[in-house]
Amino acid sequence: MVLKGLGESLRSAMQKIATAPHIDSSLIRELIKDIQRALIQADVKITLVLELSKKIEKRALSEKPPAGMTNREHTIHIVHDELVNLLGEGREIPLKKQVIMMVGLYGQGKTTTCGKLARYFQTKGLRPALIAGDVHRPAAYDQLQQLAEQIKVPVYGGGKNALTVVREGLKEFQRQDVIIVDTAGRHKLEPDLIEEMKQIFQIAQPREKILVMDAATGQQAGPQAQAFNDAISITGVILTKMDGTAKGGGALSTVAETQAPILYIGTGEHLDDFEKFEATRFISRLLGMGDIQSLLEKAQQATEKKDLEKTAKQLLSGKFDLNDMYSQMETLAKMGPLQKVAEMLPGGMGGRLQNTDMAGTQEKLRKFRVIMDSMTQEEREKPRLIKTQRTHRIARGAGVESREVKELIRYYNMSRKMMKGLSSKKAQRRLMEQLDFGI
Ligand code: GDP
Ligand code: MG
Repeated sequence: MVLKGLGESLRSAMQKIATAPHIDSSLIRELIKDIQRALIQADVKITLVLELSKKIEKRALSEKPPAGMTNREHTIHIVHDELVNLLGEGREIPLKKQVIMMVGLYGQGKTTTCGKLARYFQTKGLRPALIAGDVHRPAAYDQLQQLAEQIKVPVYGGGKNALTVVREGLKEFQRQDVIIVDTAGRHKLEPDLIEEMKQIFQIAQPREKILVMDAATGQQAGPQAQAFNDAISITGVILTKMDGTAKGGGALSTVAETQAPILYIGTGEHLDDFEKFEATRFISRLLGMGDIQSLLEKAQQATEKKDLEKTAKQLLSGKFDLNDMYSQMETLAKMGPLQKVAEMLPGGMGGRLQNTDMAGTQEKLRKFRVIMDSMTQEEREKPRLIKTQRTHRIARGAGVESREVKELIRYYNMSRKMMKGLSSKKAQRRLMEQLDFGI
């Protein structure tokens, strides 16, 4: 699905947010301008653009991000949220006996979509039938017949009067579950098309009145949708040609105008090129949320890298008691895999680390943390105080064996030596061999 224009410009607006060093109100205002520009270029109605962007701006400037979410993520989610809200989550046509009437301008994909819908109900175990209510285009009945033939669905049509065809068709298909009525389109809305549509509506009493609209429809989308809605009150929209390079803005205007949800989308000429519409997915794709997500992750990694640099500097500073080791361990544990830390280590140490058992090391660190929690502050500052008796007490408190406490102390002593020796590359290597970091 490519919604070229709108997608591209919205995506670049969002990327600005994802990559900015920090989010402030002037950046949010800039974002709002970018979004407005993107929507207007994609032919979204101006009143709608203003309404939507005002909502986003208000929320982005006033709401605090929920716990665990950065300002940046929050802003991106607000934009996503409001666009989804505008479209509303999709709805599916209930699987039951009913008449469905398809309307729309000429060439939008009505007839094709009749076939797609019939196919859809068929796969759900219902018996669909088609009525060729477009008597004005000579080939319309043929086209419907060809589509129906592919899926072995009955069709009624061929008459000269649309109302008669529909009346007869309904009689013929009384025993079918879902009757789909195709209707005529025009190049533009004309009074006689509206009149005929209203009369078919009177006869068929459809449960669903579906506006079929090409996703590429621009500025005209709003007024078009409005006119159809005024005549027969639309219950849903199907957007076609979503596989094309549509600007996509018309879809937003249509929905806002009719208040009718988008039900399905057509994604190709084949009868199976038909999907349930999901606003969240649609907007995520439009905004390139996948890309944004990875950008956010990269930003996250950059901050982690700073923390790691701090840790590495501290490692090299010389002062090193159990508290230092403990806080380093906390940092490391928070950072996740030791691999990242390994990459930060000076010299060839990182390379050496990469071959060690990271998962095992992580587990050891966890245990060390529990042991250190059972120590007094003094013991953590002066680990040499920890002799046999203290070792037993600490072990009991932590619920571990005394030898595990001794192992921690041994590890601490080795780490301290390593810290001291870090200035010489040779010493680094030697100590790493010795430590093997497998602990
Ligand atoms: P109608 O005049 O509204 O009944 O439109 P048609 O069903 O005759 O479709 C017009 C053209 O659009 C035909 O060539 C269809 O094959 C094509 N079409 C319909 N839906 C789609 C779609 O989802 N994707 C693509 N690529 N083409 C479509
Ligand atoms: Mg047609």
